[in-house]
Amino acid sequence: MDRFRRRLAEAGQPDLRRANPTTLQVNIGLTCNQACHHCHVASSPKRTETLQPEVLARLLELLAASPEVELVDVTGGAPELHAAFEPLVRGARALGRRVMVRSNLTVLMTPEGARFPRFFVDNQVELTCSLPCYLRDNVDRQRGKGVYDDSVRALKLLNGLGYGRGSGLVLNLVYNPGGPSLPPAQEALERDYTRRLREEHGIEFDRLFCLANLPIARFREDLERQGALEGYAQLLDDAFNPDTVPGLMCLSQISVDWTGQLFDCDFHVASRAPCLNADGRPRTVFELERFADLAQDAVRTADYCLGCTAGAGSSCGGALAQATA
Ligand code: SF4
Ligand code: SF4
Repeated sequence: MDRFRRRLAEAGQPDLRRANPTTLQVNIGLTCNQACHHCHVASSPKRTETLQPEVLARLLELLAASPEVELVDVTGGAPELHAAFEPLVRGARALGRRVMVRSNLTVLMTPEGARFPRFFVDNQVELTCSLPCYLRDNVDRQRGKGVYDDSVRALKLLNGLGYGRGSGLVLNLVYNPGGPSLPPAQEALERDYTRRLREEHGIEFDRLFCLANLPIARFREDLERQGALEGYAQLLDDAFNPDTVPGLMCLSQISVDWTGQLFDCDFHVASRAPCLNADGRPRTVFELERFADLAQDAVRTADYCLGCTAGAGSSCGGALAQATA
């Protein structure tokens, strides 16, 4: 039994089981213009994984057959750099679904990404953008030199198009800690972000989401190098908060990777821990008739799930509860 399931059992909670998925998260592939220190999917310009055309076609068919899926959440890599990105967004919008794109901002400042701010407006895409601090040094240390300045330029551009200004074009930001610690309280940090970005750059945004770093991929390798892995795992374990469990994203979403394999979340995509058939084969989109086929399935868990339930909890939409300690 993994540490997470043991914690659930100690709290008298049953193992996780998915409801009918209302969010489809698509990891469109791992190519990215950045190679951040803490990237949980180990993306970089050298990665070539990308969503295959037959997977795109099947996803849109399944979406059409699954009216309960309200939101298509597109992540990567840098989604904008993938050939399937525009047809996926257009296809989902044509089916009347909300589309959220996880953009790293800097890609919008590259020649390949420059057309996307207008594309986002035209398709009424919601944006969730990484900005792990309002201080230049912290951002550049975690994400690379020059990232802060490019991110600020991109945010100003998006504000100029109406994003983050209450006009319905949603612009959310994402914070994650720079090291092996839990995120601070989301509401207080959102106030600090609002004040600093407004005062220093005239930037506006809608919400700040605080995410914990899960000990997987590059972040895990970093912790191992520093001899800090077990200390961080224990921190997450000690901070287990049962109030976060009902809000876990794996209870209401399904993730699909570029090959069409199904996962309970993007962390499992990163860890290559797919949903499995009874015979142990990975489940794929080609075996489903609709996403509701996945309702009531058991969610795979691992020690690193404790990163989602520590303190105030952590999900693609930020904190899940009040921290208990
Ligand atoms: S964290 Fe985001 S921007 Fe950084 S390498 Fe990973 S996918 Fe790219
Ligand atoms: S890591 Fe994934 S499966 Fe585990 S609790 Fe978090 S969202 Fe759920």
